[in-house]
This record gives sequence, C-alpha cells and structure tokens, in this order.
Amino acid sequence: MSDIVRLLHVPAGWTWPGSSEATADAASAAFEALLPRRQAPAWQRAANCLGVDPDLFFPERGGSTREAKEVCRGCVVRQECLQYALDNSEKFGIWGGLSERERRRLRRRRDGAPYRVSRAC
Ligand code: SF4
Repeated sequence: MSDIVRLLHVPAGWTWPGSSEATADAASAAFEALLPRRQAPAWQRAANCLGVDPDLFFPERGGSTREAKEVCRGCVVRQECLQYALDNSEKFGIWGGLSERERRRLRRRRDGAPYRVSRAC
C-alpha cells in the first residue's frame, strides 16, 4: 500500500500500531497537505449569512426562498456573491439574493459573454 493510500485511510485519532500520537498528527498534517485547497473568497467574511442556517439558502424543491432573500437584501457583498455564483455556475441555492432560476435568466440575457454584475442590480 502506498503512503498516500495509507494516509487517505487514517481515521481521525487513530494511531499506527506501535506508533505515537505524534505520528498520527504528522499523518493528519500530511493528509491535509494532499487535499486540494479551495480558498474561500475574502468577501465571504463580510457576508450577512455568516452563522445563518445554510438550509435557508438551499431550500427543498418548491420551498420558500423568501427568508434567504431577506438576509441577502441587506448584505454588503451581494454583488460579489452573485458574481461568484455566475462565474462558477453555481446551480443550487440562493446567491446574491437570486435563486438558480433567476441566475439562469440573467445568464440567458447575455449571449456568450460572461455576465458582469453592476451596481445597478
Ligand atoms: S448575498 Fe446572500 S448568500 Fe450572498 S453572501 Fe450575502 S447574505 Fe450570503
């Protein structure tokens, strides 16, 4: 078994037989280093939805989006959030105060060129 495969199968808190906790910590650190990093954009730190139940933003099919949109309405990073969703083709949830259907409509209005969110939105 290669080291990488072994590292991928180390459950949290598990130590190799005959090894110390330090070895397990080192294995965890090595595992972390192998994971692809997807940095959260800086604007997310100013998001109104920090600490809000994420389920609100990903309602069941046909569920209400009203409460999530209320949270977005006063969000100072709404434009950045919407632009991020459009740039990354986020297919689910409320982003920048818009549902997936509303974002799809926005994209359709602009043939080909990526949609740029302006202050007017
Ligand atoms: S616009 Fe809405 S979903 Fe986006 S960061 Fe702000 S509160 Fe969160």
